[in-house]
Amino acid sequence: MASHSTILVTGGAGYIGSHTVLALQRAGYSVIVLDNLVFGHRELVERVLKVKLVVGDIGDRTLLDQLFAQYEISAVLHFAAYACVGESVIDPAKYYLNNVVGSLTLIEAMRAAAIDKLVFSSTCATYGNPDTSPIPETHSQRPINPYGSSKLTVERILADFDQAYNLRSLSLRYFNAAGADPSGRLGEDHTPETHLIPLVLLTALGKRASVSVFGSDYPTPDGTCIRDYIHVSDLAQAHVLGLEYLLQGGTTTVCNLGNGNGFSVNQVIQTAREVTGQAISVVDCPRRLGDPPVLVGSSDRAKELLGWVPQYSSLRQILTHAWNWH
Ligand code: UDP
Repeated sequence: MASHSTILVTGGAGYIGSHTVLALQRAGYSVIVLDNLVFGHRELVERVLKVKLVVGDIGDRTLLDQLFAQYEISAVLHFAAYACVGESVIDPAKYYLNNVVGSLTLIEAMRAAAIDKLVFSSTCATYGNPDTSPIPETHSQRPINPYGSSKLTVERILADFDQAYNLRSLSLRYFNAAGADPSGRLGEDHTPETHLIPLVLLTALGKRASVSVFGSDYPTPDGTCIRDYIHVSDLAQAHVLGLEYLLQGGTTTVCNLGNGNGFSVNQVIQTAREVTGQAISVVDCPRRLGDPPVLVGSSDRAKELLGWVPQYSSLRQILTHAWNWH
């Protein structure tokens, strides 16, 4: 921890970014957020977190050059991205332009400003349809949707930039981020909402009529997709530890961030019924494009390398915190 370090957080007005800003503040860092507010929330940064917000795009090189000239930034935590699997299949250009070209612009600006530490939000979607479960970081990466491909491309750029230009980076491959800060100050709020857990809770609140279950014919015990849900505050803490790893001279690497436990869509809905005491209607729908049947990660490397200890690993706890926030 170094209180004099200013950390730039791209996408800091979004879900995982805002939770990480809170974790950075609790660890004593000063933070600047860069967010284009396409999905982010201004009031979250300015009123809840009370952090400097620069409204703009990671693809705006002029803005980045100004930002890096104006502030002494010691590292960048890069969350800003589009992250909807289904949409990426329908509109890949949007994903490659923002997630790849935008990220390249950001790291080029970092290189010009001699900022050599980056924590990057990667994803389990880079693995595609895995051969093993839980998935280790050494598993081959064969993404089956443009979202996963866009993130894998950035991982490769980062590996090459390390070799050629000594940019040190930590790519964190998230499994399914869920839950909300236990204090109730922050939560998950996308417009439009596409993620399972908030949709289930909005249905419990009566704001939606039912939950669409995307596919009941997968090769899983109950036919619905299995995912590894990881509490967003645990993800945020991993970023603080990852930043400290780089600040202390850590070399470029990747870490999975998950719980190592898989839950099916039906299990999530059933646990949400228990947590909320509400009925929660479901409608069986066709499979969503680009969804692998099972994604569960091994996070042993993050635990060993970063000393990461997830605090909220039960699905019930994750849903309870999300429900309290809603
Ligand atoms: N899902 C679903 N209904 C929804 C939204 C998601 O059945 O309305 C499923 C989706 O197909 C996937 C899982 O829930 O198997 C988690 O999806 P989400 O969009 O929350 O996260 P992702 O896995 O895409 O990161």
